[in-house]
Order: sequence, then structure tokens, then C-alpha cells
Amino acid sequence: MEIVENLNTIKSSLKEGVKLVAVSKTKPAEDILLLYNNGHKVFGENKVQELVDKYEKLPKDIEWHMIGHLQSNKVKYIASFVELIHGVDSYKLLKIIDKEAKKYKRIVKCLLQIHIAEEETKFGFDMQEIDQMLADREFINLNSVKICGLMGMATFTDNYDVVRHEFKNLKKYFTQLKNNYFYNFDSFKELSMGMSDDYPIAIEEGSTIVRIGSSIFGSRNYN
Ligand SMILES: *Cc1c(COP(=O)(O)O)cnc(C)c1O
Repeated sequence: MEIVENLNTIKSSLKEGVKLVAVSKTKPAEDILLLYNNGHKVFGENKVQELVDKYEKLPKDIEWHMIGHLQSNKVKYIASFVELIHGVDSYKLLKIIDKEAKKYKRIVKCLLQIHIAEEETKFGFDMQEIDQMLADREFINLNSVKICGLMGMATFTDNYDVVRHEFKNLKKYFTQLKNNYFYNFDSFKELSMGMSDDYPIAIEEGSTIVRIGSSIFGSRNYN
């Protein structure tokens, strides 16, 4: 099967220790099952409704990652099962994830999304906002969430110098935040960056989690 081959090819090219999130958005549950039956259990979706539908249909030991923009009023639908939320972009959202996770006695892992791209359309914190959020250390009291690192998306461009520069910046911010706020937190160690077109660069620049969709499942049709 082609998508199984695609997955295996990508997996074998990844540096050891880099986690692959297979981004299955818009793709049918059968495609996911095919990869699952070949031993892959980590999948990412960017829409809450689609994530919930697939969670309900598919084996319960799949590790689900929410990679898209998450509205706070929808956290309640995924809090019982989601493994890692990549796109936390406000303190308000972090607090709501904490509250909802508590109801299930779970700890939901989160990444803070940083705005690294030149484009204005991408969500995320800038570094000043992160400092404001972390400086008073109030976040330490949120014990049903665990901040595990950062996530970022590079500019959509075929100028790979720009892309590399943005990934370098994200890594720099990671190191800065690690030193300033998370030095004693072993769990703050993840850098989610890299998609189909740019993951080899992202890995060279220190990515620990890549989110790959179209190179595995083929291109998406949004109609
Ligand atoms: C769709 C998506 C991806 C995967 O994109 P591909 O180019 O298909 O690999 C990765 N990250 C996020 C946040 C996405 O929305």
C-alpha cells in the first residue's frame, strides 16, 4: 500500500529520537487504520469535530495530537483523550485545558505555539507575550497540564533560507525559555516543527516532533 510505504520511507529517514505525527486531517479513518495495522499509532488532526469522530471510530490506543488552532469552548470535547495539544496560544486557553483535564483526572501535555513566520495569518504568541505569561510563575499551579515545549510553523515559501532562519529562531526561543523558566522541568524538551516540505531542515535545526501529512497520505482535497 502506498501510504504505508510513504510512512516507512519517512520514518526510516528520521533522526533517532524524532517523533513522527502522521497528520490525517481530511483523510478517511480507513487510511489511519492501515497505518495503525502497520504499527504506527501517533496521529494529528487540526479540527475538533474531525478529531472526535475519528477517536470514536478508531482503536483506543491511538495517540491523538491536536495540531490546529483550538478554541477554548471546544476543549471539553477532547480533554478526555487528547495526548498533546500543539497550538496553545494564550494563557486563557491553557487554564481551560487545565480545568477540563482535571475533570478526567488527566494531565494533558501542551506546547506553546510561537509566531515565527513572517506571514500574519499564523497563530501564536510572540516572545514578549510568553514572558508576560510565564514571569509570575502562576502557570506552575496548573497541575492538570504539562508544558512540554514549543511549536511553530514556518512561512509558506520555497525560499528555504527563510524557513531555516525561522526554525533557528524557534530553537533559540526554546533554549531561552528553558533557561529562564523551565530549567528544572525535565518535561520541557519538545520542539514541534517541520511539515512535509520542510521537515529535513527542521530536524537539522533541532526539531523533536515533525507533523507530516501530504507526504504520507497524498495531497488534500478540501472540496
Ligand atoms: C496540515 C498541517 C500539517 C501537515 O502539513 P503537510 O504539509 O501536509 O505535511 C502540519 N502542521 C499543521 C499545524 C497542519 O495544520
